[in-house]
Amino acid sequence: MSAPDRVVIIGAGQGGLQAADSLRSGGFAGTVTIVGEEDCPPYQRPPLSKDYLRPGGEPAPLPIRAADHFAGLDVEVRTGARAAVIDRARREVALDGGGVLPYSHLVLATGSANRTLRVAGADLDGIHHLRTLDEARAVRADLERARSAVVIGAGFIGLEFAAAARERGLDVTVLEAADRPMARVLSAPLSDFVATAHRRTGVDLRVGAGVESFEGRAGRVAAVLGASGGRYPADLVLVGVGASPRTHLAEQAGLAVDGGVLVDDSLRTDDERIYAIGDCAAFPSHHLGARTRLESVQNATDQARHVARAIIDGPSRYRDVPWFWSNQGDLRLQIAGLGLPGDDAVLRGDVGAGKFSVFRFRDGELTAVESANRPADHLAARRLLAAESPLRPEQAADPAFDLKAHAKRGTDRAGSAHRS
Ligand SMILES: Cc1cc2nc3c(=O)[nH]c(=O)nc-3n(C[C@H](O)[C@H](O)[C@H](O)COP(=O)(O)OP(=O)(O)OC[C@H]3O[C@@H](n4cnc5c(N)ncnc54)[C@H](O)[C@@H]3O)c2cc1C
Repeated sequence: MSAPDRVVIIGAGQGGLQAADSLRSGGFAGTVTIVGEEDCPPYQRPPLSKDYLRPGGEPAPLPIRAADHFAGLDVEVRTGARAAVIDRARREVALDGGGVLPYSHLVLATGSANRTLRVAGADLDGIHHLRTLDEARAVRADLERARSAVVIGAGFIGLEFAAAARERGLDVTVLEAADRPMARVLSAPLSDFVATAHRRTGVDLRVGAGVESFEGRAGRVAAVLGASGGRYPADLVLVGVGASPRTHLAEQAGLAVDGGVLVDDSLRTDDERIYAIGDCAAFPSHHLGARTRLESVQNATDQARHVARAIIDGPSRYRDVPWFWSNQGDLRLQIAGLGLPGDDAVLRGDVGAGKFSVFRFRDGELTAVESANRPADHLAARRLLAAESPLRPEQAADPAFDLKAHAKRGTDRAGSAHRS
């Protein structure tokens, strides 16, 4: 096997940049090249649906790393460069417009793309998606003049946008096809709390509400027509119906793909020279006990660290605890672990005061903790899940039970077991 001396990373986002950083901090001395198709310096996406939409002057995008960071590490970052083809036999990546990058190891960090709605009128002006800086700029520009907005999909991005639009004083309607917001990721109690919080700020949140088509006037959206007959006037529409993994390159290269680039528990594809991380990768999750694909900064960056170690020291099992956050107006949501719809839900804290957590259990084992404005619970949960420290439902429910101390004992126990 040749020396791992030339790493090419496709995708200059959260995962790609972290992988390069971790290769260098781990002592990797070979060549590292990041290829990113976007023209601008790599930026963080989370603020695009939050602070970036606030009124006032247009904020600068938040860079993922300082401008001179990678020059100092002797990492080449090629922005405005799209990887077009992976030639696995020659171990080369061909770039759009010419140029070839040989690799000894390749990291796919291509992220995900907005899902779109295939209904009449979907290409009218004023209908937006929100993933890239250009899209965020277009949303901001329309927010400046809009008086009403309709959001399609009550997921993280849709609800973050809804909160920002309400703060600006727009009339906001959210249409969600499922029977509650964020049903795929949140337990019913937290989902209901989120729905109430948005309705309290004046958002017209409608569940079980599909979309039939868009109505236009002079090429611009004027209203959304609901599947069950309603008409919702809109100067601006935000479509937040999820994202699909960007797997085209992998597929073309003959790698296994099924709802994401398929990787093993060390995040390696079926080609031992190629890893996939972040939004584009479908991996066997230790915490879920099943294959999944996650869209979060933690997932992309922890997987990047793991893959960097694998390239330097050889593969090992990835088992970091998944966690997420979302800020929606005054709401601070933090989720640790991965719950499933049938999990039992145990409440801790004060729901009325908007400061509580939902502890989710499956067969008596803690699977996830969802916290609303309770950051201490979230931190304890991450430690508990990482240490696989047992917590009983009645302990979670008992306000006198010292969760932090329990989590610390679990971490200490796991640490000494690891050392012995
Ligand atoms: C509006 C918004 C808000 C979000 N808020 C949160 C949040 O609050 N908390 C949270 O945890 N997560 C949030 N996320 C999700 C988080 O940003 C992503 O999960 C994370 O960026 C994934 O990292 P990644 O490296 O997998 O992909 P990305 O960071 O998306 O980077 C992938 C990059 O690869 C590039 N690329 C793709 N194909 C090619 C190619 N062939 N050649 C060259 N370049 C290519 C893409 O252009 C892109 O720049 C948010 C996402 C969005 C869109």
